[in-house]
Amino acid sequence: MTFEMNNLKWIIKEATADEVKQEFGDNKNDDSYYYGITTLSKQRILINKEITIEKQKQTLYHELMHCYIYSYITDNLGSIDEETFCDISAKSHDIIHEIAFKYFKNR
Ligand SMILES: [Zn+2]
Repeated sequence: MTFEMNNLKWIIKEATADEVKQEFGDNKNDDSYYYGITTLSKQRILINKEITIEKQKQTLYHELMHCYIYSYITDNLGSIDEETFCDISAKSHDIIHEIAFKYFKNR
């Protein structure tokens, strides 16, 4: 599914756990497990399709928050204080939940 944020066209794709891990550029042979990843240079979100639908939703909300920050705020947020975090969350909530609703509507 594609969507736009601040004139940037993004795509959400289902992926295997290995594909998500690969996107992280992680060559470690350990037990690290990856649920999803947002890649600004590709304007793409990968969601691990091997996890439960509830965890996929939680992961998509998380990844859409990265997407919102990259699209509207900065490529490198660094650490922020609680008030700033709450403000970003409040402003992004409806946008993120509308996209997630559309993504999961027919699943
Ligand atoms: Zn993250």
